[in-house]
Amino acid sequence: MLTTAERNASPAQRIEPLRILQSVQSDEHLVVHEVYRSIQGESTWAGVPCVFVRTTGCHLRCTYCDTAHAFYDGKMRSVDDVLAEVVGMSDGALVEITGGEPLLQRGTKTLIDRLHARGRTVLVETSGAVSLHDVSPHARYIVDVKTPSSGEDARNHAASWRLLRPGVDEVKFVISDVFDYEFARALVVRSAFPTGVTVLFSPAAPRMNPTELAERIIKDALAVRFQVQMHKVLWGDKSGV
Ligand code: SF4
Repeated sequence: MLTTAERNASPAQRIEPLRILQSVQSDEHLVVHEVYRSIQGESTWAGVPCVFVRTTGCHLRCTYCDTAHAFYDGKMRSVDDVLAEVVGMSDGALVEITGGEPLLQRGTKTLIDRLHARGRTVLVETSGAVSLHDVSPHARYIVDVKTPSSGEDARNHAASWRLLRPGVDEVKFVISDVFDYEFARALVVRSAFPTGVTVLFSPAAPRMNPTELAERIIKDALAVRFQVQMHKVLWGDKSGV
């Protein structure tokens, strides 16, 4: 959960740590908060061992944010340095670039392309508040469409939704209450996303009871995929897992 000061930060204040750390936007550099190995906890890739690259900085302030530590700090690194660390950490094929908001940094595109060239499957978790019109085609994008309880639903970049690729990209809704559920359901029912794009409904614990969410999905016969955050089941609300 965010502090009041974090929640009330102005747009300029929100990206100030990123601006200071990355004084020159560069295709060859990234401000990285942490790199770690874990189990993929979400999406259709849940359960697969995965190396995570968490970038610094986010321009949103979702009320339920559990990665506020990634708003600040981090280290400016060359893309090749990050690439070498990721490749050295695992022979496995799966890598996720997350944040913060990884698409705020130009170096993310370079890292995706180089990981792809090294045979890695790359997932990018994005807030959905950044355009997908000019992103690398070599990643699979998981778009966290913001629900009303996030306080950031007005920032959804809906024009990007039609660009999502069936069988490749995925959409996620974090659902805190019945209003979020109805918001997400309405988008699914009116086919806001291309047919074949997996839609994930995830309960925001402890605000939304997972059983209640599952039962609503069943009752409404919604063609979505229910998920819980597997890493939180395993390790609780800890960073770096
Ligand atoms: S987009 Fe993600 S990192 Fe940014 S405030 Fe929302 S939950 Fe936190």
